[in-house]
Amino acid sequence: MKVLVTGGLGYIGSHTCVELSKKYSVVIADNLINSKIEVLERLNSIAHSRVIFEKIDLRNKKEVAFLFEKHGDITGIIHFAALKAVGESVEKPLLYYENNINSLLNILEQVQQLNSEINFIFSSSCTVYGEPLNLPITEEEPIKKAYSPYGETKQICENIISSSSKLNMNLKSISLRYFNPIGAHESAAIGELPLGKPQNLIPYITQTVAGLREELTIFGNDYNTPDGTCIRDYIHVTDLANAHIKAFEYLIEKEFSTNEVFNIGTGKGTSVMEIIKSFQDCTGKKVNYKIGKRREGDVDATFAENNKALDTLSWSPKYSLEQALKSAWNWEKNYRKLNNE
Ligand code: NAD
Ligand code: UDP
Repeated sequence: MKVLVTGGLGYIGSHTCVELSKKYSVVIADNLINSKIEVLERLNSIAHSRVIFEKIDLRNKKEVAFLFEKHGDITGIIHFAALKAVGESVEKPLLYYENNINSLLNILEQVQQLNSEINFIFSSSCTVYGEPLNLPITEEEPIKKAYSPYGETKQICENIISSSSKLNMNLKSISLRYFNPIGAHESAAIGELPLGKPQNLIPYITQTVAGLREELTIFGNDYNTPDGTCIRDYIHVTDLANAHIKAFEYLIEKEFSTNEVFNIGTGKGTSVMEIIKSFQDCTGKKVNYKIGKRREGDVDATFAENNKALDTLSWSPKYSLEQALKSAWNWEKNYRKLNNE
């Protein structure tokens, strides 16, 4: 079975391709707007079967039509491709709406023309919940006004997929609402590779320890949490990758068209201070940090109620926080060719 992975050279996509390649033949479509071509070679060095790469800009209808003409025999699509920087989306909302929504529309237009069943998985985010009313967050948590154009694109895309699934009997779909993916493949051949200054906590920590950044700024320690720093649900990227495989297999088994959503998190909340402490404990490396101002749009705490995924998809996270943090550091060291164990 052939699976199309959009955004497959990105962070989560590349890890998912490795897991997919154990059973499926994989075609990646990516325009490298937020990834490097070197990831393809790294990925193929650990993939179980060679993945095919098509350099395609999904905003371009003609390129997407070409992609489907060439690979019309796909049975599934995992749609990772999107721009994802919350802050940038506030500064460049049109870019985000155009990229994230048009890419999806172009794909679904092609799916509509196929006469075969398509199992479709969409990368959504816990950001669709906004400031949660209840913790842990279940899938029943009401969807509130998004904090950023990025978050809004995730809400809109979920709605587009849901409407399409109602009309297209060949389309079976799942939106996975990720919490905070971290860590890297155990081989350290692939990992999180932000272009420019990292926006996320873990790559900022590893780059600081690697000497690329002077110090980490903790964005606020006056939140309503036990130590005052924000709480998030950090999940190992390989566990997240495997959630896609389980979701895909679940869809294949489904007889009829469906559209479902699942939280993908560990169910455990960890504060920024606790992350720093765990990182120091499990790597033996000191993290230079200072306390700074709050970052706009951050909420006190988010963590998942993941029972729906556990029960329905027979998925469960396997890696501990320490294993995830260690793998992130191993990747950084390997990538920067550091030997300072
Ligand atoms: P990433 O930026 O590393 O990967 C996305 C990939 O999509 C990149 O390789 C980029 O080049 C490609 N891409 C973007 N626009 C494209 C276009 N128009 N045509 C072709 N390729 C395009 O991001 P990631 O962290 O791997 O995230 C993957 C998905 O998961 C995204 O949809 C993101 O919004 C979602 N998500 C990520 C997180 C997170 O913390 N990383 C959390 C929740 C949801
Ligand atoms: N954070 C921080 N300093 C940084 C980056 C992130 O203190 O340089 C905090 C951020 O305020 C949040 C947590 O780390 O509380 C996780 O942030 P990240 O951007 O990784 O993920 P988010 O939860 O925003 O998707």
